[in-house]
Amino acid sequence: MRIEQDLKLDFKDVLIRPKRSTLTSRSEVDISRDYVFLHSKRSYHGVPIIAANMDVTGTFEMARALSAQGLATALHKHYGDDALVAHFEALPAGATQFYSMGIGASDMAKFRRVMARAGSAITAVCIDVANGYTNAFVRFIEKLREEFPALTIMAGNVVTGEMTEELILGGADVVKVGIGPGSVCTTRKMTGVGYPQLSAIIECADAAHGLGGLICADGGCTTPGDVAKAFGGGADFVMLGGMLAGHDECSGEVVEINGVRKMRFYGMSSRVAMQKYAGGVAEYRASEGKEVLIDYRGPIEGTLQDLLGGVRSACTYVGARKLKELSKRTTFIRVSQQLNEVFGKS
Ligand code: 5GP
Repeated sequence: MRIEQDLKLDFKDVLIRPKRSTLTSRSEVDISRDYVFLHSKRSYHGVPIIAANMDVTGTFEMARALSAQGLATALHKHYGDDALVAHFEALPAGATQFYSMGIGASDMAKFRRVMARAGSAITAVCIDVANGYTNAFVRFIEKLREEFPALTIMAGNVVTGEMTEELILGGADVVKVGIGPGSVCTTRKMTGVGYPQLSAIIECADAAHGLGGLICADGGCTTPGDVAKAFGGGADFVMLGGMLAGHDECSGEVVEINGVRKMRFYGMSSRVAMQKYAGGVAEYRASEGKEVLIDYRGPIEGTLQDLLGGVRSACTYVGARKLKELSKRTTFIRVSQQLNEVFGKS
């Protein structure tokens, strides 16, 4: 047994220090990014925020609404072949949407089937496993890269620099970072495993950038300020689940509880999801997700405006004319636990 004594931080442990700036208005800030992916060599242009590939948020409706504003979506993996083919074939040029898959034989078989029909329309995949530390996961990425050299591969989840490097060297363009921070995730409670998310972002971004790769911070953002902190810490993309739940573009019905309209939101490893897609929780495993009821918030548009406005404003406070400059201009101030308790997370 070993104990690491280094300080590790979560979003709530820091604030971004304001800096002198010549910017006069948020409207001067450009929050889009341009990347050329390391392996696929494809160009990306957009606002680098991605809807999570959970079945509530990774919907076609969400994808259409977000793509109209330049954001991306990782579609959930439970759509059938025909629906996926039709969706990808109708994508406007330049839109980035991720086809999601696990690493099982049936995932690969389905991907091959869909690629055979809509191949040229699918430019990016999200390979998603709860634990990105297995040999099988790395081998899967290597094989996929070999078979599809021009495909942009986002893969995860991991939380440490050495594993980020291994995935990038294995063929991933973007490494997805986060174990345990998700709003409906119970991994930390059920297993004791996890890593404070801001430190995971800072360390994995450093490792990825050293090799020319990128990272996507996945999970734990509950406010636009957290998203700004993730970008400030070096994230190239930020993936959101809970912050996008509760809208018309999500799957799931609106229920009324004590006169308040709510929508269900649940983890993809929760009992609810496993019941829905796998016929129950397998005997050898425990559920590592929970279900919550989120206030119904209508169309995504208003939430997006707050989200993008918050990130833009963060850039203004530190004098970053472009989102690209935010991490260079970010100085985090540690805030004490006591202050967090008094003032909450704001
Ligand atoms: P959020 O933005 O809601 O904080 O986090 C979204 C992320 O939580 C997802 O992209 C995914 O990585 C993670 N997640 C979703 N469902 C589950 C689950 O059931 N268990 C765990 N451990 N993580 C989940």
